[in-house]
Amino acid sequence: MTTTSIDHWIDGARVAGTSGRTAPVFNPATGARSADVALASVEEVDAAVASARAAATQWRRSSLSRRSEVLFAFRQLLHERSDELAHIVTAEHGKVLSDAAGEIARGLENVEFATGVPNLLKGGFSEQASTGVDVYSIRQPLGVVAGITPFNFPVMVPMWMCANAIATGNAFVLKPSEKDPSAALFLAELWKEAGLPDGVFTVVQGDKEAVDRLLVHPDVAAVSFVGSTPIARYIYETGTAHGKRVQALGGAKNHMVVLPDAELDLAADAAVSAGYGAAGERCMAISVVVAVGDVGDRLVDAIALRLPKLVIGDGAEPGTDMGPLITAEHRDKVAGYIAAGESSGARVVVDGRESAVPEEGFFLGTTLLDHVAPQMSVYTDEIFGPVLSVVRAETYEEAVALINSNQYANGTAIFTRDGGAARQFQFDVEVGMVGINVPIPVPVAYYSFGGWKSSLFGDSHMYGPEGINFYTRGKVVTSRWPDPATSSVDLGFPRTR
Ligand code: NAD
Repeated sequence: MTTTSIDHWIDGARVAGTSGRTAPVFNPATGARSADVALASVEEVDAAVASARAAATQWRRSSLSRRSEVLFAFRQLLHERSDELAHIVTAEHGKVLSDAAGEIARGLENVEFATGVPNLLKGGFSEQASTGVDVYSIRQPLGVVAGITPFNFPVMVPMWMCANAIATGNAFVLKPSEKDPSAALFLAELWKEAGLPDGVFTVVQGDKEAVDRLLVHPDVAAVSFVGSTPIARYIYETGTAHGKRVQALGGAKNHMVVLPDAELDLAADAAVSAGYGAAGERCMAISVVVAVGDVGDRLVDAIALRLPKLVIGDGAEPGTDMGPLITAEHRDKVAGYIAAGESSGARVVVDGRESAVPEEGFFLGTTLLDHVAPQMSVYTDEIFGPVLSVVRAETYEEAVALINSNQYANGTAIFTRDGGAARQFQFDVEVGMVGINVPIPVPVAYYSFGGWKSSLFGDSHMYGPEGINFYTRGKVVTSRWPDPATSSVDLGFPRTR
C-alpha cells in the first residue's frame, strides 16, 4: 500500500518535501498509518520565509477594506466546508466529529473578530496637542510572523493566530503539529480561494529542525507558540534571544472546585464533559476536581455513574462520545500514570485500562481517581488523557491554596450557588482564565486567551485585542504645518505651548 504524502504550502501551492525526511501520520481510531508528512530542512524553511517576506511587503500595502473582504470570504468558505474539515481533523486527531466541528466554530470566531480590522487598527488622534501641532498613533505590521502549533487543535489554534496576523498586514508562516498536519493545508487552500495573495499564508511541515530555523531566522519578526510547557519555555528563550517578539503558551493542570452547595448533577455533568471531552487532550480540560467539605463522596459517585454511559470509539462514527488518544506511545504513557497513581495510594474508582474499548487504534477508557494527593505524579504532571483526579479539601481556603501553589495556571472553574463565594474565588485565584459554573472558560474571540505562570511565557495573551497588539507595533506621529514665515532656530528641547 502506498501512503499519501503531505506537503508544504509555499507561494500559494503545494510543494513536495525535498529533505528526504518524513514522519508517519496515523488514524488514531484504527492505528493505521494514513500518510507521511514532509519534514522541512533549513533550506526549505528559508525558501518559505523568503516567499512570505516578499508577500508581506505587498500585503501591508493592501487597504483595510480589501483585507476585510478576504477575511469575510474566508469565513464564508469555512462555513461551507466545515464538515469536510471536521472529517480531516477527526481522521488524524481522533476527536469525535461534533468536537472537531466545535473547534472549527471557535476558530471561526477569530476570523469574525478579524473582519473588524478597520476598526481594530484605528489609532488615536489629538488635535492641537501643542499650538498648531497634532499627534496621532498608528499600528503597523511586523512583517513575517510564525505560528507553531500543537496537535490537539489543528484548526482552532492556527486560527487564533493567523486571522489577526493576516488582518493586521503580516505574512503568516504556520508550522503545524506533525501528528495531524492535513488541516493546515486545507486552510491554505481556503485562504487562496478567498483571494489572499500567494505567500501571505504559508505552511511549513516539520519538526524541531524547522522550528529551530524559524526561531533564529533573521526575517521572522515574531513567533506565536502553543504546546507543552518545556517546549514553550525553550521557544520563548530562544526566540527572544534572537530578537523576536514571542508569545508561548504552555501546558495546564486545570482545577475545578466544587463547593458543598453546588448543584451536584450540574457539577458532575460538567466534570465529565470537561474531563473526558477530546479524551482529555485539551489544554483547558479539567484534570483535577477539588471537592470541598462533605461534597466528595456524593460527587465521586455521581461522576462514576456517568462514565459507563460514554460511548468510546471511532470519532467518525455517529453517537461516539470519546475517541482515541493521539498515539500508541501517548496512550501507554497515560496508562502508566494511572498505575503510578494507584501504587502511590490513590483510589481507582473507574479504571480505564480495564474498559472494553476497540482493539485497533489508540484507545483507553475513562479513569476516575479519588483521594489524590498533591505529591503524586498524577497530580503534579499534565497527563493529557482521559484521567480525572479528585482531591479532597476541607475548606475553600485549602482549595484555593492548592490551585495557587500549582506551577500551571491556565484555566480553573468553581461550581457553587453562592455568588459571593464565586466572586471571592475570581479575586483570589492566580489563574489566567476562570469559569464560574463554566468548566471550560475559553474566552470568546473579542477577549484574549492566556494562562499565567508556567502556562504562558511572554507578556502577551493570544487573539482578541492582545493578538492585534502582538502582531503590530505602534508608531506615533507628531505633525505641524507652520507658516514658514514664523520659523526660527531654537536649540531648546521642544515643549508644548
Ligand atoms: P508539543 O510541545 O509536543 O508540540 C507543539 C509544537 O512544538 C509542535 O508543532 C511540535 O512539532 C513542536 N515541537 C515539539 N518538540 C519540539 C522541540 N523539541 N523543539 C522545537 N519544537 C518542538 O505539544 P503537543 O503534544 O503537540 O500538544 C499538547 C500540549 O500543548 C499540551 O501540553 C497542552 O496543554 C498544550 N496546549 C496548550 C494550549 C494553551 O493554550 N496553553 C493549547 C493547546 C495545547
